[in-house]
Amino acid sequence: MNFYLATSFIFPRSLRMRIFFLCFVATHVPLLAYTVWGLATGRIAAVAFWLLLTATAAGTVLALLGIGALLAPIEKLADALGDQEGEEEDQGGHDTSRAQDLIQKLYNGVHRARRSTDKAMRELDLVAHEDMLTGILNRRGFMKKINSLPASQRHGCFAILDIDYFKQVNDEMGHDEGDRVLRALAGRLSEQTRRADIVARWGGEEFVVFFNGVIETEACWALERIAWRMQGDPIGRIKGRPITFSGGVCRWVEGDLTGSLIHADEALYEAKRNGRDQVCTAVALTPAR
Ligand code: GH3
Ligand code: MG
Ligand code: MG
Repeated sequence: MNFYLATSFIFPRSLRMRIFFLCFVATHVPLLAYTVWGLATGRIAAVAFWLLLTATAAGTVLALLGIGALLAPIEKLADALGDQEGEEEDQGGHDTSRAQDLIQKLYNGVHRARRSTDKAMRELDLVAHEDMLTGILNRRGFMKKINSLPASQRHGCFAILDIDYFKQVNDEMGHDEGDRVLRALAGRLSEQTRRADIVARWGGEEFVVFFNGVIETEACWALERIAWRMQGDPIGRIKGRPITFSGGVCRWVEGDLTGSLIHADEALYEAKRNGRDQVCTAVALTPAR
């Protein structure tokens, strides 16, 4: 890189000419030495000199053609990189016309390709872990976040929540209203939980919350507050009555993550069986509100 930069004053816009120039100088030292010696001593042989000069001219043309042909695939590669990422480059505020020679063109192209790959990877990561409808984490994102919790935070309570009679929202008010209700509940859950808690859409009209570092009673209180607000400030109505949810809570202390989630789900179905609009805990499977 240093040599490339140090020689950039030689044909700054053409790598081909720069390579040729350096090769030419390096390989013609004997001819130059012979010419200088011949002129100084007067012992230069005209025939030999013209012969050498003609051979040099022919060699020059061949060398230029050869270097051009060798660099052609690299030129193509640089052009391909430039074409593919042109838009991205413009957005980044870079000017492709400033690419002065093949190396710079390649360098810019590779960097653009890397930026665009990083961007695509970030977008894919978002799509893979975020719920597109509500903007909160999806199930995969939730599991990833739980699994990445530090050991000191790997205890608390899982709550799985399911909107009661949600199908009626879709059937009676349309799918768009159903979507709006899902977004509204996602918003409420995010608003009414702590930063340390983790809220996600579990699937369909089900949500999951990890209440960090709390016991069942505290998790139930938090859910109680959310349910209470849904009565006073409904996120929607079914047959004129505020929308409610049922929930199942299970304690988790480092270890059997799947088991805790299954127990929370079982507790949720107990809450449904008990008449909905309530939360059950997995320990005793008794209504908590
Ligand atoms: P329950 O009280 O027993 O939970 O009854 P429910 O009507 O809430 O439950 P059910 O499982 O019968 O219906 C869930 C409905 O959720 C069915 C499905 O069409 C709807 N649903 C799932 N995902 C979406 C979504 O992304 N948007 C909308 N609008 N509806 C959805
Ligand atoms: Mg459901
Ligand atoms: Mg439901």
